[in-house]
Amino acid sequence: MVKICCIGAGYVGGPTMAVIALKCPSIEVAVVDISKSRIAAWNSDQLPIYEPGLDGVVKQCRGRNLFFSTDVEKHVFEADIVFVSVNTPTKTQGLGAGKAADLTYWESAARMIADVSNKGIKFQILSNPEFLAEELSKLAANAFLAQRISSVNAMSALCEATGANVQQVSYSVGTDSRIGPKFLNASVGFGGSCFQKDILNLVYICECNGLPEVAEYWKQVIKINDYQKSRFVNRVVSSMFNTVSNKKIAILGFAFKKDTGDTRETPAIDVCQGLLGDKANLSIYDPQVTEDQIQRDLSMNKFDWDHPIHLQPTSPTTVKKVSVVWDAYEATKDAHGLCILTEWDEFKTLDYQKIFENMQKPAFVFDGRNIVDADKLREIGFIVYAIGKPLDPWLKDMPAVA
Ligand code: ADP
Repeated sequence: MVKICCIGAGYVGGPTMAVIALKCPSIEVAVVDISKSRIAAWNSDQLPIYEPGLDGVVKQCRGRNLFFSTDVEKHVFEADIVFVSVNTPTKTQGLGAGKAADLTYWESAARMIADVSNKGIKFQILSNPEFLAEELSKLAANAFLAQRISSVNAMSALCEATGANVQQVSYSVGTDSRIGPKFLNASVGFGGSCFQKDILNLVYICECNGLPEVAEYWKQVIKINDYQKSRFVNRVVSSMFNTVSNKKIAILGFAFKKDTGDTRETPAIDVCQGLLGDKANLSIYDPQVTEDQIQRDLSMNKFDWDHPIHLQPTSPTTVKKVSVVWDAYEATKDAHGLCILTEWDEFKTLDYQKIFENMQKPAFVFDGRNIVDADKLREIGFIVYAIGKPLDPWLKDMPAVA
């Protein structure tokens, strides 16, 4: 029987191996990780990663030809094929800090394989790296995608200033077949583990190759993304009489996109930290993100999220100002405002009349994903801000945002 060992039970390793085990019943797949809690979760009913359908696949294969273990060396020793899918986060210190890929985890995995597999075997190595100058396509593809989002987000600010509707602009632009309609939704910002990291890498490679102008160009994609998040926070604060201090604000959605529990680089982190900086009390609900994850994300420094060894302790002030609840109605009860930060389908069909009745007045909705019908909510009585849409008369009268 062919044996596969995958080092790294994360977003890449876990789901990929589960599908290999499902499709190839004659192969035995062991997924190993140094994180005890992650492996324990893979072996429990509460998997550490949510993806539609993943639960079923894992349940079908686990214990049959799919195993999760912390005994890294044993499984590497026994394997015919070893996959390495450990994290390659952005460096937080030293040369290239804040830009270059940190290969510490990758190198230590490679050295361990060499140490353990000492029986004079010939290695064949297949590499699909995401950080080498010779393999630029992955970085370029992600940079182009992120640039599309930053372009439409930049347009959204102009639409708000001029009274245009960004969805109509996107639609018109997208009918040009050279541009195409996909990935043109304005939002509170892009997230996920790769976009920012890959652009920073691209920027670093440009700088190392003496191309500062090209580096600057790509940096702007991230700057606009950061601008979009702070613009959103400014809107919330300025709309609510320039203060959110000690006001309850409901946060609906924390994951970086719908149908995942993945919070890496989610815009929700920056938005929540911005609101906490203005002393708001946050009540957060996301159908797939645990309280632990949210508290950890909000107490971490930038770029620390992907360095498991450097996990920061949760600061007591964050804990006090943030509560995580398991229901959108609970989150919005007695709140002054609600912010939609992830486009979960369930947020489209909430009973907004009921939510309105249980909120403080005036009741504000800040739709960071353009998923609710703003006009309907205004009929109910909400003051509504929707990214890139003509402003509510209320918001027009508020001081201009920075
Ligand atoms: P990705 O999105 O690339 O899958 P993740 O951070 O989700 O990244 O997963 C990477 C996993 O690799 C983490 O769970 C981490 O604990 C694990 N890991 C890192 N270094 C090692 C190592 N030397 N041996 C085993 N697992 C490792």
